[in-house]
Amino acid sequence: MRVDIHTHTCDESLHCTPEFIADAQRMRAEPATIGGDSGSYFDRYMAAMEPVDRCVVFGLKGRHTGIYVPDEYVAAFVARAPEKMIGFLSVDPHEVDFFDDFERGYTDLGLRGVKLGPTYANFDPTDRRLDTLYARCQRLGLPLMFHMGTTFAQHAPLRFTRPYLIDEVASRFPDLKMVLAHLGHPWEADTIVTIRKHPNVYADISALFYRPWQLYNSLTLVDEYRVWPKILFGSDYAVTTPDESYRELRALNDMLEGTKLPRVSHDRLDEVFHRDSLSLLGLD
Ligand SMILES: [Zn+2]
Repeated sequence: MRVDIHTHTCDESLHCTPEFIADAQRMRAEPATIGGDSGSYFDRYMAAMEPVDRCVVFGLKGRHTGIYVPDEYVAAFVARAPEKMIGFLSVDPHEVDFFDDFERGYTDLGLRGVKLGPTYANFDPTDRRLDTLYARCQRLGLPLMFHMGTTFAQHAPLRFTRPYLIDEVASRFPDLKMVLAHLGHPWEADTIVTIRKHPNVYADISALFYRPWQLYNSLTLVDEYRVWPKILFGSDYAVTTPDESYRELRALNDMLEGTKLPRVSHDRLDEVFHRDSLSLLGLD
């Protein structure tokens, strides 16, 4: 079983402000793509997901920074290949009816998890206003994925990106399944100590390989803190593809040639590539 736990769908022209799209160019050295129109994007998406058996797909809601993908759009995207995709809803907690939005996404649209972007939507994940949402997700067994770690968007507050904020959420809701995206870069150590102590908190390694020295050091920490079993595979498509991610993760050791530095274990990476993340998150 191969699972990509972190992929996106959005139509940039409808769901992102021009400023958000311009800021996204800070991501990689090459021009960044974060979505596309609903016709051709689906075909490109399915071709890119060919190496994986299942994939989790979501939009994101963060009006503060200029992205807002309606849940209906995500549900319609998933409906084109429901045997392959699992859709997550999103909420922007600054909207007064955000909890109704959640209920609609879960009950009417059949979305099976929640993607939150505290920095994109400008909220503190420990805010007590979110407790109703967390409690409901915990009771229903719906996993939550947080974008933790920094972002390209100029107006995204860094204070809401620190992965240790989830330590408090996990202490209040110990049975809530949560994933911290992107190892919470560049605060991977925060993420590692958080996922080590909380049995139901995981992290994904999506969209990190293009900073190979940083990722190498992060995976060395993952190894030393013995949290490999909590690491899930993701691509952050359309930012990267599963294929490119497999290849570049395996190539991390190339830069160590001629040194005695510890290698990233390919056996451990293979375990990540084949991890049944859906079962771990209660999604199978
Ligand atoms: Zn993402």
